[in-house]
Amino acid sequence: MTQPGSRPAGASPGEPGDTGDTGDTGIVVRGVGRTYRDQDGAATVALDGVELSVPPGRFVSVIGPSGCGKSTLLRMVAGLERPDVGEVTVCGTTPQRAAEEKRLGLVPQGPALLPWLSVLGNVALPGKVNRRHNRRPEPDLVALLRRAGLGDALHLRPAQLSGGMQQRVAIVRAFGLQPDVLLMDEPFSALDEFNREAQHEQLLDLWEQQGTTVLFVTHSILEAVRLSDTVVVMAARPGRIVDVVDIDLPRPRTQELIRSPQFHAYELALRERLRDAFEQGVA
Ligand code: ADP
Ligand code: MG
Repeated sequence: MTQPGSRPAGASPGEPGDTGDTGDTGIVVRGVGRTYRDQDGAATVALDGVELSVPPGRFVSVIGPSGCGKSTLLRMVAGLERPDVGEVTVCGTTPQRAAEEKRLGLVPQGPALLPWLSVLGNVALPGKVNRRHNRRPEPDLVALLRRAGLGDALHLRPAQLSGGMQQRVAIVRAFGLQPDVLLMDEPFSALDEFNREAQHEQLLDLWEQQGTTVLFVTHSILEAVRLSDTVVVMAARPGRIVDVVDIDLPRPRTQELIRSPQFHAYELALRERLRDAFEQGVA
C-alpha cells in the first residue's frame, strides 16, 4: 500500500512538489498576506505568505482549524477582498475580471436563494445578469436540475424545500453558469451525514462532467479525502499553509473504497497533520 504522500507547501515551479501547469483555468496564489486590525490597533494576521497553485480541472480542498484564514483565502480568490501583499490570478487574469466574465463561481456557506423565485427561477437568475458574458451553448438548466434529483421541485419556492434540497439548488445554480473555477466555502456544513453523501455525489458528478477547477473549504476530514485530488492544511496565528497532501485514490470513490484501509490511512494522516496545525496555531 502506498503511504499517503506529503510535500512541502508552496513548492516553486519545477520542484517535485509543484502542482504543475496552471493554464487558462487554474488558480495561482503568490505570497499572499492579509492583516486585519481591530479598533484598538491589535493585529490579526489572517494570511501570511500563502502560496498555492490549483491546476485546471483539479479538486483541491483547504482544511484547518477555525480562524486559520480559510474563508479569507477564498474571498481573495473570489475577488471579494484584496491581499495586502502578494497576488492572486484566476484563469490567467484578476479574480475580479474572472468573476465579471462569469468564469468564476462561488457557493457560499448557506444556500442564499431568493425566496420569491422558484427553484428554476433561482438557477436561471445568474444567466440573466450581464448576458453578454454567458457561455455558449447555454446549459439545459432543467436537465441539470433533474440530474440533481430536483425534477419535481422546479416550480417550488425555497421555503417549500428542505435544507439539503436548497443547498442542491445552490450548487446547480453555481454549475449552471459553467464557470471554469468554482469556489466553495463549507457548503455542506449545515447538512446531516446522509444529505452530505448525496451532495458529494452530485458535486463530483457535475465536476467530472464540466471539468471545473474547484477550491473547496471544509472542516471535515472525510469530506476532504472523499472529494479531493489534493488537500491543503492550514494553521492559525498567522494563517498559513503548513501541509499539502495528494490523495492518490481512484475515482469513483465508492462506499467500498471509503471503508478501505487506504482511505482510512489518508484520514489518519490528515487527522495527525491537523492536530499539528492546531498546536502550531496555539501560540
Ligand atoms: P476561517 O474561515 O479559517 O475560520 P477566517 O478567514 O474567517 O478563518 O478568519 C481568519 C482570521 O481573520 C480570524 O482570526 C478572524 O477573526 C479574522 N478576520 C476575518 N475577517 C475579518 C474582518 N473582516 N475583520 C477583522 N478580522 C477578520
Ligand atoms: Mg470560514
